[in-house]
Amino acid sequence: EKINIAIDGPAAAGKSTVAKKVAEALHYTYIDTGAMYRAATYLALKNNANLDDEREILALLKQAPITLSYTDQAQHIFLGDVDVTDAIRTDHVSNNVSLVATHKGVRREMVKIQREMIKQAGVVMDGRDIGTHVITDAAVKIFMIASVDERAERRYKENVAKGYEANLEAIKADIRQRDKIDQEREVSPLVKATDAIELDTTSQSIDEVTREILAIIKE
Ligand code: C5P
Repeated sequence: EKINIAIDGPAAAGKSTVAKKVAEALHYTYIDTGAMYRAATYLALKNNANLDDEREILALLKQAPITLSYTDQAQHIFLGDVDVTDAIRTDHVSNNVSLVATHKGVRREMVKIQREMIKQAGVVMDGRDIGTHVITDAAVKIFMIASVDERAERRYKENVAKGYEANLEAIKADIRQRDKIDQEREVSPLVKATDAIELDTTSQSIDEVTREILAIIKE
């Protein structure tokens, strides 16, 4: 019988890479909830909205609702009928997304969509509040952590491999700032669920972490 799996943790801890592999191995659907907060941020920035004003952001989302679709298991995210899967990965979005994600109303909208998607079990969902808020009854909850240096190093290598411009110190600063805002916000802050299993991936490879999670699921 299919279950739902929650994977949370700080920025760039390797959640999405591992969650994708776990979903693939189980023939489950991988849902990246960070992409939804990024899409809301992209929309707000594109329309020069005041990021402190959640009503403005919510009004824009009404005009261009977020939807997810899947081709060959790869998640695509849309605002209205525009595919913004790649557009949401810029530094500009990364540097502003945590602020947008502090808004109660924005989070309520995102969680509504996420809860709709878990009605059919067989989901691996990654984010910050999945185990604590979105899927409180998830059969398996993982909290992935790694040192800031390790996370920044990985993100740096990823960007270089993609041919992007990358600055290690800037990446470190972004990770630190996002973690701080995510941990300190009032609504569903980033915290390990009491019943989550913590995995420190600092000195582990993607395959090792994936195997570990698959073993936990089989227990
Ligand atoms: O996962 P990713 O790093 O792409 O997420 C971008 C940002 O979206 C996070 O830094 C966090 O501020 C926000 N987020 C959130 N809740 C989630 C997923 C992401 O607040 N469930």
